[in-house]
Order: sequence, then C-alpha cells, then structure tokens
Amino acid sequence: MRNLQVNGERLWASLMELAKIGATPKGGVCRLAASDLDGEARRLFIRWCEDAGCTVRVDQIGNIFARREGRDPSLPPVVTGSHLDTQPTGGKFDGAYGVMAGLEVMRTLNDLGYETEAPIEIVAWTNEEGSRFSPAMVGSGVFAGVFDLAEGLARPDNITGVTLGAELERIGFAGPEPVGGGPVAAYFEAHIEQGPILEAAGVPIGVVTGAQGQRWYEITVTGQEAHAGPTPMPRRRDALVGAARMIDMVNRIGHAHAPYACATVGFVQVSPNSRNTIPGRVFFTVDFRHPEDTALTEMDRELREVCERTASAIALDAEVKEFWYFPPTPFHADLVAAVRQAAEAQGYSHQDIISGAGHDAVYMARVAPSAMIFVPCVGGISHNEIEAAKPEHLTAGCNVLLNAVLERANAE
Ligand SMILES: [Zn+2]
Repeated sequence: MRNLQVNGERLWASLMELAKIGATPKGGVCRLAASDLDGEARRLFIRWCEDAGCTVRVDQIGNIFARREGRDPSLPPVVTGSHLDTQPTGGKFDGAYGVMAGLEVMRTLNDLGYETEAPIEIVAWTNEEGSRFSPAMVGSGVFAGVFDLAEGLARPDNITGVTLGAELERIGFAGPEPVGGGPVAAYFEAHIEQGPILEAAGVPIGVVTGAQGQRWYEITVTGQEAHAGPTPMPRRRDALVGAARMIDMVNRIGHAHAPYACATVGFVQVSPNSRNTIPGRVFFTVDFRHPEDTALTEMDRELREVCERTASAIALDAEVKEFWYFPPTPFHADLVAAVRQAAEAQGYSHQDIISGAGHDAVYMARVAPSAMIFVPCVGGISHNEIEAAKPEHLTAGCNVLLNAVLERANAE
C-alpha cells in the first residue's frame, strides 16, 4: 500500500483538545515543563495512546514512548514525536503538532489494520523549550548522551530553584526506564516552521535538510571611566563607543553572509551606566548562526578581526570569549529523501529548508538517522499566543509523516 492518508479532522480535534490544557486568554497555551499542566497533558496523551492500543513507557528523565508493535518486534523502532511543553506565552502547535501527528499516524494505521515490519513509537520529549529549566532539549539531550542523567535531573527552575527531577517526581513522571541506549531505526519530527519562508513561497511542505550551526560569544570591552565634562574628546577611552561600532559590524557580518547567516547582539551591559561618566566597560553577547561550518568559521574570523581593529583604534581592550559552539547538523540523506518522496507522491509542492531553531531532532541526529518535516505557520510567528497554522497544512505534513514513517518501517 502506498500513499495512505490520515484523518485531518481528527488530528485537528486532538490538537484543539490538547490546547485546552494551559489555555491562555489570548488563545495561546502556557504549559511549562514538569508543571501540573504538563502532567495533565501527558496523562491525556498516554490515555489516547493506550486507546490506540499502544504500550506506554516512561524513562527516568520523563520522556514518554508509546509503541505500536511490528511484525518483527526485534527490529529497532521507527520513532516520531516532539514535545508537549510550551513557552510561557506559547501557542497551540509548537511541539504539540509533532506529538499529535505521531498519534494520528498510529490511529490511521489502526483504521487500516496495517501491520508494519518494524515497531513504531511516538515520543513526547521532556523540557524541549528550556524556558522553565534551561537549557533547552534536555529530554532528548539526555537520550542522545549530550548531558548525563544526573545533570538533566538537577536543572533548577529559573525562579524557584526546584529541580526538574523533583518536579518530574511530583507530577508522576520520573519513570523507571533507563534513558536511551537502544537502537533507533529512524527518527522523524513534524513541526511548524516557526519562520516565514514556506508561507511566503506558498509551499505546504518543507523538507528539512538540516539545522544551522551556532556560535555564541561573550565580549568584554574595557576602556577607562572618566568625567563626562572635563575629559577632552581625543583623550577618551570610551568602551561604549567601541562596543557600538562592534555591534554595528556584527550586523554587517550577518548581511555579508546572506541569505543564510544570522547575527544578533541581544544583551548589553554598560558599566557604570551613569549619564555623566564615560563608560569604562561594556559586556555584550553575539549569536551567530549559519547552516555551513565554513561560513561560521569565516564569520568567527571576521568578528575577532573587527573587535581587535575597533578596540585598538581608540585604545580599548576587547576580550572575545567563545561561549558555545553547536555545529551544523545535516539530517540523514535517506530520511530526507523519504520525506521528499512522500511529499511528491501526495502531490504536495515542497522545498528544501534549513531549521533556524533547535529541535529534539537535532540531538537525535547524533544517535539515529533523523529528519524533520516543516509546515507553514501563519505570519511565520511562533513562541507567541497568536501562533496559528492552517488545518490543511497540518494534514499535509501528517500525510507526509505517515508515508515517510511507513517507508522506513518497512525498509530492509
Ligand atoms: Zn518546538
């Protein structure tokens, strides 16, 4: 059987039902990781999975796996899913779509009495958002061995300090299963794009070929504090003037590596931050992103050169510290091809796209062949209560997911 179709209305109804848990007055969702509401959403998800005949297990970092057995239970499973937690002012679709799309795949296979060769599992990862407990993607990160379990469980709530582990225990989701370790045949994640590209192109399916790499920096510019009145202009060592020139250059570096580069300064601290004192010290952050490592390396070189040149021109010191490096993640060629083929077979227009955001699939790509399917979201807006997606696009993405999963679950 080829070219099967999901029940789009059922998928939409599940998304709307789930969105009631943590619904906000402006039409969004606030369902922070390991909160009571997260627990409620998890229990609803598990009930739906059990109703669909799946066997559910929970691991020690709270990741939930719902399994539909294959003809050969000894084969590694094809896994699909995403996350149920949201931002404080989140929407109905970020994360929830990938989990509900996985559920709709199971329900469709049940309707058809379809038996796959390999087992299929839906996963709901713990704390993808990183909003209440940082960093992001802790559940998939522990699964992929990026963090160890103790480190994941010890992440503190950014306001109260209570740990993720204690909160999982409290809501009943500190599971007994060891985290990760077993083989995974393939991991697919369906997600809203969270950017404007697909909508602008009028294309319902984004074939995600990879996620961009990131380099984060902390830059400290040091000059000399002095009185704003008696200090003549030529004698000043104004750290803020130096930082301002560097910040402008960061933006220019981003434009120079168009169309794929992103370059952002989002945090600045001026010291002493007094209106009649020449600033002696400025601290700011830089966030560089690009899908190609060679470009990121070039941007890194340009940043260091610009900072040094700017600083020495006005007798400042500039310390450029690399804070975080996350290499570009190309997704698995066979899985990307399976997504593209599934879109073609359904007659959907599609285009290749790079993920600008981090996703659980990015960590999963370290331990299993992985790929993602993007669908447009209205206005490209996400992490916002007005986040929206069209039912027909969500159905299209789920149809692509179904057929890509089947291709892998029946592959040799
Ligand atoms: Zn997400």
